[in-house]
Amino acid sequence: MTQPNGGPKLKKEWETYRRLLRFARPYTLRIIGGVLFGVLFGGSTTGALLALRETLSGVFNPEEFPLAGVIAVAALLPLFGLARGLGDYFSTYLLEWVGNRVVLDIRLKLFKHLQDLSISFYGTNRTGDLISRTTNDTQMVQQSVSGVLSDLAKQPFTLLGMIGTLIYLDWKLALISLVLFPVCILPVATFGRKVRRSAREGQEKMADLVDILEENAVGARIVKAFGMEGHEIARFLDRCRAVFSRAMRVTRARASVEPIIVLISMVGFALILLYARWRHMTFAEFFTFGAALVAMYEPVKKLSKIHLSVQQSSAAADRIFELLDHPIQVKERVGARPLTETVARVTFDSVSFAYDERPVLRDIAFEARRGACVAFVGGSGSGKTTLVSLLPRFYDVTNGRVLINGTDIRDFTIESLRKQIGLVTQETILFNDTVANNIAYGTPGADRAAIEDAARRANAHEFIAAMPDGYDAMIGERGGRLSGGQRQRLAIARALLRDAPILILDEATSALDTESERLVQSALDTLMTGRTVFAIAHRLSTIQHADLILVLDQGRIVERGTHRELLAAGGAYKRLYDLQFRDGAAS
Ligand code: ADP
Repeated sequence: MTQPNGGPKLKKEWETYRRLLRFARPYTLRIIGGVLFGVLFGGSTTGALLALRETLSGVFNPEEFPLAGVIAVAALLPLFGLARGLGDYFSTYLLEWVGNRVVLDIRLKLFKHLQDLSISFYGTNRTGDLISRTTNDTQMVQQSVSGVLSDLAKQPFTLLGMIGTLIYLDWKLALISLVLFPVCILPVATFGRKVRRSAREGQEKMADLVDILEENAVGARIVKAFGMEGHEIARFLDRCRAVFSRAMRVTRARASVEPIIVLISMVGFALILLYARWRHMTFAEFFTFGAALVAMYEPVKKLSKIHLSVQQSSAAADRIFELLDHPIQVKERVGARPLTETVARVTFDSVSFAYDERPVLRDIAFEARRGACVAFVGGSGSGKTTLVSLLPRFYDVTNGRVLINGTDIRDFTIESLRKQIGLVTQETILFNDTVANNIAYGTPGADRAAIEDAARRANAHEFIAAMPDGYDAMIGERGGRLSGGQRQRLAIARALLRDAPILILDEATSALDTESERLVQSALDTLMTGRTVFAIAHRLSTIQHADLILVLDQGRIVERGTHRELLAAGGAYKRLYDLQFRDGAAS
């Protein structure tokens, strides 16, 4: 977005930065400590300069000053040096601590927020972008918070000390020298805008890069199978170049600042030399004056760069806050109570749902009694996945209600509701952990005997026992080392162990070999026994015993009944069945 003038933009930057600093508020004591050590730093720098002047006078005018006096003032130099060092160390330490701690807090807050965001958020946001915001952007914020606080703590006092020294030494010359400063700051401000814009673009380009990496890691098989390595490398190179060019833009803008300041300082210095000759300054005075000017360079440089730093970090912080401000759609109602009673009835009462504007489910009504199996059938995109997602409140209904024992599920706490629900989905997400921990995911504290028992009932024990480390074997990212059937049986074991009374089953579409299919099916039968099941069925052979089959078409229930009834009715279900039977017979 481009803004017509700098005013609102600057205001927004400052607001963002203020919001950022709010994260530092719990650490006010440390910040105060950092500032106090900053005062020590600035004070001792000034002290060292004054001691230097006295020492120089003593050293270069031996006849006027006794040796003992010279030694006494000379001894002050290392003392001030020590004090300055301590101030520097502790001020930096305390404020870096605050910066890093703020980043820890922000990262945690972000991650917590990500956990609360609805499933649809992950459908519409790129993983690379999320990763970049939680890592790069927070890092950027750390550097700026630490850097800015640290500079603000140390440099102003040093600067004040130096200005004081200059005026004390020669106020006229001091005034002339000080005029040069705004001249130095002007170009810095101009380059600031460039840095901010390029830095933000750079971050975005970096997210593109991470995206490609992620796509290639996940889709390695496809890339190889289709011989697209060259294409992927070209795509990657393209993004790398974009990152490179943004980085160089930032570098150009940033690298220009210092040479300009140095040039202006040199001009100033030459003029001061001439002035010194004209005014017949003593060497001690002149040297001290010069040293004070040189010592002023660092604070001026750092303070003038603070603006750049704030700009850069507010760009990063904007991206972080954008994520933090993303509204949580599925919220717990005030006064929600835990669902503790036995689930006797699950009712969909005229439920409608739309992701955006477009309705995906319309007027869905049915009831499942305890222990019943309801199966959903229908073409791809007919709304089956969406329908079962409403039960664990991955999304909330747009209209109507989902009831458990007659109570709206939104009146239960989300945690207690989800505790009643087991989920076996098409894409079995396994975590990069041991087999045992993967089975126990969702049932923390389960002992090994229970895990093994679940695995046995899921027909998974044999292949697990055959693995080199058995239950302690590590599963690669996304279960890369397991076959499809094995992954499904692990997911079934996970659900068995969790032992929730309601089960949502999204039957795998990918074809398994007959043996694997038989093992998975018998494991599923074990899992379904005694539970209220909501099953998305792709192969109609598996749901012949369902108590209720709902046929969906474009988000509406177009047919309902048992397998037998629906076949007899000769409608949509019959057609689907004939189609599959024919395909099955053909293969
Ligand atoms: P099924 O499981 O029967 O294949 P889905 O429930 O996945 O059907 O999808 C139903 C409709 O909702 C489809 O038209 C699909 O494009 C749309 N849809 C699914 N998920 C989302 C989402 N996160 N955002 C927007 N539309 C979606």
